[in-house]
Amino acid sequence: MQQDELPLDELDQAESETDEDSEEATRLGGKLPEKRSATVQRIVRDAAVPRNVKALYGGECQACGLRLEGPDGKTYSEGAHIQPLGEPHRGPDVEPNVLCLCPNCHVRLDIGAIVIDDDWSIIVRAGALGGNVHPKLTMHRKHKVHVNYVRYHRKHWQGD
Ligand SMILES: [Zn+2]
Repeated sequence: MQQDELPLDELDQAESETDEDSEEATRLGGKLPEKRSATVQRIVRDAAVPRNVKALYGGECQACGLRLEGPDGKTYSEGAHIQPLGEPHRGPDVEPNVLCLCPNCHVRLDIGAIVIDDDWSIIVRAGALGGNVHPKLTMHRKHKVHVNYVRYHRKHWQGD
């Protein structure tokens, strides 16, 4: 899954198969993955939103502190929506609804393995061996996360 691309809303999809690679695949003695053309409907996101949030933290995960760096020296982190964008949640694509997280913590948020309390404490609902989170989210003073989104997320996963 690509960064910032959570499940797409595939309302309609038209597919057509092509076999232009089959000759090449035969020559290489292997089978290449089939290619298909598809039309999908997806939510259009504002690229500036995750970029701005990630910049505040220098790519450091707000939940566990991990800072992933590539060989080019650039950091890799993800802009994680607290109230998901897709149906039925319809969360807004705004900075107060986005956290800077490492890929693991992003997944843990999305599957409800962690939820966030009103004081930004991290409630661990399901463990990850070797992957500890901080007691609280790191919060930059310029990052105004809105408590309504963590409440929505918490209510969705644990009903309070
Ligand atoms: Zn993390």
